[in-house]
Amino acid sequence: MKLRQTLQFLLYEWLDTESLCRRPRFADHARETFDAVFDTCERIAREKYAPFNRLVDTQEPYVDGDTVVLPQATHDAHKAFVASGMLGAAQDYEIGGMQLPYTVNASANAFFALASVSIGSNLLTVANANLLLIHGTYTQKRMFAANEFSGRWAGTMCLSEPQAGSSLSDITARAEPDGDDSQDDPLGPRYRLRGNKMWISSGEHELTENIVHLVLAKIPGPDGKLIPGTRGISLFIVPKKLVDIDGQLTGVRNDVALAGLNHKLGWRGTTNTLLNFGEGKFPVDGRAGAIGYLVGQPNEGLRCMFHMMNEARIGVGTAAVMLGLAGYYASLDYARNRPQGRPVGIGGKDAASPPVRIIEHADVKRMLLAQKSYCEGALALELYCARLVDEDHTGEPQAAAEARLLLELLTPIAKSWPSEWCLEANSLAIQIHGGYGYTRDFPVEQYWRDNRLNMIHEGTHGIHGMDLLGRKVRMGGGRAMDLLRQRIVDTAQRARAQPELAGYAAALQSAWERIASATRAAWSDGDPGSALANAVPYMQAFGHGVLAWIWLDVATAAGSRDLTAQGETARVGTIAAMRYFYHYELGKIDAWLAPVQQRDMTCADLPEEAF
Ligand SMILES: Cc1cc2nc3c(=O)[nH]c(=O)nc-3n(C[C@H](O)[C@H](O)[C@H](O)COP(=O)(O)OP(=O)(O)OC[C@H]3O[C@@H](n4cnc5c(N)ncnc54)[C@H](O)[C@@H]3O)c2cc1C
Repeated sequence: MKLRQTLQFLLYEWLDTESLCRRPRFADHARETFDAVFDTCERIAREKYAPFNRLVDTQEPYVDGDTVVLPQATHDAHKAFVASGMLGAAQDYEIGGMQLPYTVNASANAFFALASVSIGSNLLTVANANLLLIHGTYTQKRMFAANEFSGRWAGTMCLSEPQAGSSLSDITARAEPDGDDSQDDPLGPRYRLRGNKMWISSGEHELTENIVHLVLAKIPGPDGKLIPGTRGISLFIVPKKLVDIDGQLTGVRNDVALAGLNHKLGWRGTTNTLLNFGEGKFPVDGRAGAIGYLVGQPNEGLRCMFHMMNEARIGVGTAAVMLGLAGYYASLDYARNRPQGRPVGIGGKDAASPPVRIIEHADVKRMLLAQKSYCEGALALELYCARLVDEDHTGEPQAAAEARLLLELLTPIAKSWPSEWCLEANSLAIQIHGGYGYTRDFPVEQYWRDNRLNMIHEGTHGIHGMDLLGRKVRMGGGRAMDLLRQRIVDTAQRARAQPELAGYAAALQSAWERIASATRAAWSDGDPGSALANAVPYMQAFGHGVLAWIWLDVATAAGSRDLTAQGETARVGTIAAMRYFYHYELGKIDAWLAPVQQRDMTCADLPEEAF
């Protein structure tokens, strides 16, 4: 199945997305309006994104004086995306949005990621503006968020510093009040920021009139020292060009300077920058220091940031899935057309017969089915999480609270699982192409390079593993785990009603008993050192357990469908992908859980000199 068909099945036949239209917020929508949005996005992605995916990889951004130069294709794609209204699609009508369910919005964005993941910076802009909608003042929303949703300005997230990536508590960017009237600025309490921010995606470009940086920095205490830890971190709006209260550029450049572009393995269509704040390259009122407006309360910066993390991580997970699917489609096409080798029969091979297409070889089918199983399963997981976001925003109070809790638990998986396994899918796509896959004449190597980012940014694999085992599974006394367990039991019950799926229901429940046992064992002596020493293998097992659950749930929906002839082929594929996951993948969880269960310290205890 191609993406559109897969999405239609998952959205309408599995998640019952249309039922959202009965809620007041989505009352103007129907399946027809959702499909119209998909038509538009699919078309723009096909015309403005896909043809230029290789071009933005080979024509990297470069600096000309103070300006970053991007290919014309990137400007055109950005313009088309803005014109589609997708930047503010999920927002209220009052601010120009369409009040689309997030599930539909995330699905629509998938078409762009499939066509070219790195053109533009749209998801960052949306995340930035969403954060301001929650934590900004009325004026900050009107001035900054609204201009971002309209596409007039773009947004960034400036968290990382050269010496502080995973450990944001060590950031050293500082913010000091800007004069006696600093608290009276209509745009928010005004500060002067100084410091360096590393890895900032879309930190400099000419796609938009202005760039709204959201920057984490510390406000020094009365002794002039920075408060250690994450407690002292505050959040600031730092526009590249200063603006007045009417949203017009004042003509004054803020003291934010591009120190350089990072030259990346992949994802080259998006600039990635080192930015210097407040070093005096563009003095404001004759003084060094970048002007920034406080968002929310002082020292609450990280809390504000984490508000938008769930959606940002669903975005990263979905991007990883789309790169995986792009490789799957490319390698499927290649395997259908590449003649090579002959089948082995009982009498050996018949050298006189013509070669077969490689899709006829069992091992190539294995690699294709693995990709389908990883990528379509992960897509279902992302949509499930997106549906939880809608439930959180628009559900009845108890359903909303449960959705929020479950989302907290699933978010590390939604981000990390596709980052690892859809990357593996890309590797298999290269393998199917043989030597050709290792060249730049075929697209699959670029998909792998682009996808390699996803285990690194938005929290590394290691950090998410520790978040899952250290915090999420124990949250609220294990309440989130209870909710997940209940949903798994429900799925297993429904699967048992279909004879072809009953055996998988038993396998699923047994897998989760082993995961639960390892969770208890990891924490049996309460020592985080030994509990978390194997947090990544734990996350791998947990993730495979989640995917096994999702696959069985999807297969249950596929099994109960009323089918056309074409639908039957799709159903066979869906059930096969589910079976692949149980037959070839689920068994891996025991290998991952063993060191967790035993609190194995082989790695953790090894002295440095022994490496
Ligand atoms: C292309 C790209 C785009 C990015 N975009 C942005 C952006 O727009 N804005 C932004 O703010 N940042 C951005 N980042 C930064 C990204 O979030 C960081 O790279 C990431 O948080 C990791 O930080 P680091 O690179 O300093 O690695 P480090 O934190 O130094 O980590 C190195 C390794 O050590 C491990 N490690 C670190 N601490 C621990 C620990 N306590 N326990 C166990 N293992 C640990 C990590 O898991 C990792 O494997 C981007 C990065 C890239 C590459």
